[in-house]
Amino acid sequence: MVIDVLEREWLPFPRSLPEFQRLFPDEAACIMYLERARWMDGFICPHCGLTEEPIRFRSHPGILRCRACRRDTSVKAGSVMEGTHTPLLTWFWAAYLMTSQMPGMSAIQFQRQLGLSRYETAFQILHKLRAGMVRPDQDRIGGKPEEVVEADETYVGGRTRGKGRGVHDMVIVAGAVEVRQRKSTGSLNKRKTGRYAGRVRLALVPDRGAKSLGGFIARTVAPGTAIITDDWSGYAALGRHGYAHTAIPERGDMQVAETFLPIIHLVFSNLKTWLRGTHHGVSPQHLQAYLDEFTFRFNRRFYPFNAFRSLLGIAGKITAPTYGQLYSHL
Ligand SMILES: [Zn+2]
Repeated sequence: MVIDVLEREWLPFPRSLPEFQRLFPDEAACIMYLERARWMDGFICPHCGLTEEPIRFRSHPGILRCRACRRDTSVKAGSVMEGTHTPLLTWFWAAYLMTSQMPGMSAIQFQRQLGLSRYETAFQILHKLRAGMVRPDQDRIGGKPEEVVEADETYVGGRTRGKGRGVHDMVIVAGAVEVRQRKSTGSLNKRKTGRYAGRVRLALVPDRGAKSLGGFIARTVAPGTAIITDDWSGYAALGRHGYAHTAIPERGDMQVAETFLPIIHLVFSNLKTWLRGTHHGVSPQHLQAYLDEFTFRFNRRFYPFNAFRSLLGIAGKITAPTYGQLYSHL
């Protein structure tokens, strides 16, 4: 079992609906949560730096007033909730639903689930939270000596209705994924390799040429990383660009790629299932946003807590746990 190592005891994450209700019974609980997320060691005035307990107002519970400079700070400042009048509890519910259960919720479903009277409110909350998902993860994956990155590309999309026979809106998606290894599988079953996917990066590319695929790798994978691809010419220059590159001779045999690049193929297969199931197909102009949402969900699939805070914009500076931190308890 993978534990949520980024969960801090002073910022618990609900694991069920009853637990959610216990943790966030009312507006005051949400305000306290935001305050703790921002100042874990107590309030620091962002205007003058004073570290004394602020003045609080019963009539404006989300406002903290500095005792020295007398200026006000909102606990919502810097989060997606800044400037909205919708109760924090509604936002918390929304982020919880989005990160834990309902990946493809429409604004109407959302409005019903949260009991909102206005469709526009539901739409705006959903829109703001989604913006947190489609903001791509910028840092490059790989970069650890014990880690290998698998990279490949795949076609996404299909026949478009109303177009002539053989006309397809297929687009090419390039992908790279960290392959991690559990220290011990505790199993004699050799087929259980203990390998699993770490972080993933996905992008639309215009073609399968070396400039497109090589450019994708350069933007998404740290130099020096051990990287496995098939022997397609689009990847041939990776060695010269500072990667420890292994090209698997595929010779047109799909089975070879499946065997030597299992993790990236698993990612592609998950992606296509998700696109079909949640979005009922894709239109090329929205695909990059969907790829970013998929990436957000995939990279945080062990950390619903982290996703919850990211969406609300209260994630702060969180660094990914190291392998040792993740598995030291096994
Ligand atoms: Zn101050």
